[in-house]
Amino acid sequence: MTEFLEMTKDWFLGLGEQYGVNPLIFGSIYVGAIPFFTVSLGWLVKNYRKGKSIVVPALSTTFFFISAYLYLIIAGKNVPWWVYGVVVLLVAGGAYSTIQKIRKRVDDTDGESTGNFEFDSVVIGGGAAGLTASGICANFGAKTMMIERHRLGGDCTWTGCVPSKVLLKAGKVAQQVRDAGKYGLIDAEPEIDFKKVITHVDKVRKEVYEDADRPEIFEEMGIEVVEGEASFLNAHTIEIKLPNGEKRKVTSRFFFIAAGGSAFVPPIDGIESVDYLTNDSLFEVEDLPEELLIIGGGPIGTEMSQAFTNLGSKVTVIDMADKIMMNDDPELTDILFGELKRQGVSYELGASVKSVSQNDGRVSVQIEIDGEEKTVTGDKLLMATGRKPNLDGLGLNEAGIEYTKKGITINNSCRTNKKNIYAIGDIAGKYQFTHMSEHMAKVATSRAMLKIPMKMDLKHITWATFTSPEVAHVGATEKELNERGEKFEIYRFPYSKIDRAVTEGESVGMIKIFGKKFSGKILGASVVGAHAGEFISEYAVAMKNGVSLRNIADTIHPYPSWGLGARRAADQWYIRNQSAGTVKWIKRIFGYKGEIPDYSDEDRVV
Ligand SMILES: Cc1cc2nc3c(=O)[nH]c(=O)nc-3n(C[C@H](O)[C@H](O)[C@H](O)COP(=O)(O)OP(=O)(O)OC[C@H]3O[C@@H](n4cnc5c(N)ncnc54)[C@H](O)[C@@H]3O)c2cc1C
Repeated sequence: MTEFLEMTKDWFLGLGEQYGVNPLIFGSIYVGAIPFFTVSLGWLVKNYRKGKSIVVPALSTTFFFISAYLYLIIAGKNVPWWVYGVVVLLVAGGAYSTIQKIRKRVDDTDGESTGNFEFDSVVIGGGAAGLTASGICANFGAKTMMIERHRLGGDCTWTGCVPSKVLLKAGKVAQQVRDAGKYGLIDAEPEIDFKKVITHVDKVRKEVYEDADRPEIFEEMGIEVVEGEASFLNAHTIEIKLPNGEKRKVTSRFFFIAAGGSAFVPPIDGIESVDYLTNDSLFEVEDLPEELLIIGGGPIGTEMSQAFTNLGSKVTVIDMADKIMMNDDPELTDILFGELKRQGVSYELGASVKSVSQNDGRVSVQIEIDGEEKTVTGDKLLMATGRKPNLDGLGLNEAGIEYTKKGITINNSCRTNKKNIYAIGDIAGKYQFTHMSEHMAKVATSRAMLKIPMKMDLKHITWATFTSPEVAHVGATEKELNERGEKFEIYRFPYSKIDRAVTEGESVGMIKIFGKKFSGKILGASVVGAHAGEFISEYAVAMKNGVSLRNIADTIHPYPSWGLGARRAADQWYIRNQSAGTVKWIKRIFGYKGEIPDYSDEDRVV
């Protein structure tokens, strides 16, 4: 017995010499690991018997088995070769198990091998959302297909943003000719050949299409562009109806539904008997309507009311609300409303539309305002009554995709209830702007292709209506801030104080910023006036990057730029934080002899 103990002692102390380490530390780790090794081994056997994964218990058992030798690797010498072998196995096993776990968590293939799919990503729809998504997917090295049933470019290029802005510009130029006297020139009535205006609208649309939307641009990126109508057969398969009547089945790992929206026309009594216009047909009209009726005083109706008025139509806008552009700040839209009325747009607000009819080429709209019935007539009727998602024919039920009549249901990463299917742009029925379509496409593709947990930036959504004056917004509205009980200040700055606005003869407008009193943190901003859309971009960058009103006020802006107006509006933060008490102290400390200014008017503009 004594001999055995002597031998063990010699072996134990000899280890120190052999491996160049402290034998007590080595021995303690060796002995201390035994219980952990035993538990891990039990876990391994248990999992093996139950048919569960043995990867983690096997790694744990191996780790504790060689834990004392790991100490040797760090602090010793003459480490046996087999220890290195086991360490390599341990690291490889750990890496394998981690990759498997990540794969399982982000599995988007419903267990199928990725090699079974023809494409990595298929994009349905080639509007703003679809074009952006396809481009990004291809740039990430994904085998990508984009399917479009009509024209690449979608609403924005053909029947939305682009033609509406071109028409607005034509109207604005006509109005500037009429208003030439304002600039010391001679007022004149512009000669308007509407056919030429519409030809110009079409030319600009085609220019935009050629420059950014045509199929060759995307084919050069390696994207297969297919003309046809896509419909889901299941969550990984679609069928495309090709123009020649043939059908093609395509499987893909990911799908991005970017099928957009179209004009929503409410079921008004008699509507089916009226040859009304929507944004789909408006930009194809060849003759200028003499009297244009517009149902809907939202951004589309409002923009078009100004464009057609300026081009010479007599326009009447009918809306059930008692104000136009209900999603914008009423204090600012009242300024726009005043301008539009001054420019000649007529309004029937607070009007419920009872019925519509058409006789001898004249359209009549029967309305009721405050209990009184009235008929408004014109030669054309534009329905600007909202948008609806293009859900029909997509085969959403076949793929098990959840949706409501407002749009496809998505989470903040634009993912549907199906892990491999995303819905972006107007089809989701939420944020119906081109820039939001692009943003959603970025979020969805980053989430799907790279597993980056990107979310839509709902705090800094911007929008703009491109009338003269423009109306634009970013972040929280005054109404939202009040509803959530937030403490905030409103900093107003009139365009009449922006020298550039005065020199340009465009001094009607107002910048309104919602911010925190002491930190100057911007919570939201609304602007009405020329270039409001550009102003709002400066505030959007500021908000997104935590730039305060003080930072903007301290940033040098060139004089006399429009942007200087953004800085001067931010100066209002300094002005609001001035107080008689502070000045009293400044006077005392530095021995100044002047008067204390009158700070009683909080809203004074300096
Ligand atoms: C008059 C007007 C003015 C506007 N002005 C502005 C503006 O100034 N600024 C702004 O930000 N936004 C504006 N918008 C909104 C903007 O146009 C939309 O938000 C944007 O176009 C939405 O892009 P999208 O890609 O989601 O859809 P879309 O552009 O509608 O594209 C969807 C595409 O999918 C195709 N498609 C549908 N179903 C299928 C299918 N089953 N298979 C294959 N293809 C299919 C359609 O043909 C379409 O081309 C305006 C809209 C209108 C109507």
